[in-house]
Amino acid sequence: MEYQTDALIIGGGFAGVATAQKLAQQGVDVTLIDKKDYFEVTFATLRNVANPTMVGDRARKQYVEFIEGTFIQACVASMNDKEAKLENGDVIRFKQAVIASGSRYPSLPLAKSNDAFNYADRNQEMIDEHQALVSAQSVLIIGGGLVGVELAGEIASAFPDKKITLAHASDTLLDQSKPKAQRKALEQLTAKAVDVKFNRRFAKDDDVYRCSISGETLQPDIAYVCVGMIPNTEFLRVDLPNILDAKGLIKVDDYMKVEGYDNLYALGDCATIDSRKHGYLAGVQGGYLADAILKSAQGEKVKPYNKPPVVIVTSTGTDSGVATLPFGLTTTLNFIVNLKQKDMGVSNIFKMLGIQPDTSQ
Ligand SMILES: Cc1cc2nc3c(=O)[nH]c(=O)nc-3n(C[C@H](O)[C@H](O)[C@H](O)COP(=O)(O)OP(=O)(O)OC[C@H]3O[C@@H](n4cnc5c(N)ncnc54)[C@H](O)[C@@H]3O)c2cc1C
Repeated sequence: MEYQTDALIIGGGFAGVATAQKLAQQGVDVTLIDKKDYFEVTFATLRNVANPTMVGDRARKQYVEFIEGTFIQACVASMNDKEAKLENGDVIRFKQAVIASGSRYPSLPLAKSNDAFNYADRNQEMIDEHQALVSAQSVLIIGGGLVGVELAGEIASAFPDKKITLAHASDTLLDQSKPKAQRKALEQLTAKAVDVKFNRRFAKDDDVYRCSISGETLQPDIAYVCVGMIPNTEFLRVDLPNILDAKGLIKVDDYMKVEGYDNLYALGDCATIDSRKHGYLAGVQGGYLADAILKSAQGEKVKPYNKPPVVIVTSTGTDSGVATLPFGLTTTLNFIVNLKQKDMGVSNIFKMLGIQPDTSQ
C-alpha cells in the first residue's frame, strides 16, 4: 500500500506527539507513525513496576484516543528525503518528515518496551515485571544514573525488606548532576538501606554477576541493567548514513533541520539538538518545531531554538528526591520534589500534549 502525507512524524514519544498535535491542530495534513499503539510517560514506569497500585495503567494512552491527525501503527525500515518504507512493505510519501524515533535501553524493557507493541501487552509486561520483583529477595541494579537511582529508590520504598545493591562504575551517582545533587541522592538511598557500591562494573558470568574491577561476585535473585541507552536510528543507516554522528545521533542545526536537507527535521533523544535527554525537553522541542514549520510555510522568519532552563527532579522513592534547578541550584524541598512525586509527572505531560487523563483507575 502507498500513502501520501504533507508532514510525516516518525515516532510517537514526547517529541513526536508534541509536534504532531500542534501541526494537526493548525490544519496541517499530518501522519504519525509508531511501532507501538500507545504513548507512555516513561517517568512513571519504574514506580509502575515497584508499586502497580500507585500508578496502574494511567501512564499509557492509545494513540487512537487522542491523536488529531492520522495514526499508523508500523515500523519504519528505511527512509530518504521523499518516502519512508515500512517493515510490512508499505510506503509513505511525504513533503516534510520529522524524525522523533527516540532511544531505548536494550537490557531494560521495563523502562521502554522492546517488544510489547500494543497497550494490553505492555500492561501485562508491567504486571509480569512486578511479579518477578515480588518473588526476589535480593536485587542488583547496575548503573547509578537517573534510571538506576530512581529504580533503587522505588524498590526500596515498596519493599523495605529486600536487599538492594546499586553498583555504579564511577565514584558518584548521577554523573551529569551537580555534586550536591549527587551527595543528596546517595544520602537518601543509603537512608533506605540501599547498598551503593562505587567503582564497580558487574556483568553476568554464568549464574553470577562478576565485577571486572574488584573481582567480587554477587548472586542476586534479580538484576536490572540500567545503562546503555542508544538512539533508535538504525533505520537511517540504509539510505541516510551521513546524517548520523559517531554516537548514532541525527545531526541537526539550531532549527532542528537535518544537516544537508531542507525538508527533514529531527529532535528529542535521537538528535543532537540538546545533550540533555529528557522527555519534558523533547516535548518543548516538539512545540518549537511545529511553530517553526508553520511559520516557514507562511514565509515568516524563524528564530533558532533556544535551549530552555529546566527543573529536573530525580525521585529516590515515594517520599524523597533531588531537584536540579536552573543556575546550578539543587534542592530537596518537598514542594519542588512533589511536582514529580504527585503522579510521576503523568498529568503534566498529558496536559502538555492535549491528552485527557483516565479517571477510571
Ligand atoms: C525509566 C525512565 C525514566 C525517565 N524519567 C524522566 C523524567 O522524570 N523526566 C524527564 O524529563 N525525562 C525522563 N526520562 C527520559 C525520557 O523518557 C526521554 O528523554 C524521552 O523518552 C525522549 O522522548 P522522545 O520523544 O525523543 O523519544 P521516545 O520517548 O523514545 O519515543 C520514540 C518513539 O519512536 C518510536 N520508534 C522508534 N523507532 C521507530 C521506527 N523505526 N518506526 C516507528 N516507530 C519508531 C518508539 O516506539 C517510540 O514510541 C526517563 C527515561 C526513562 C527510561
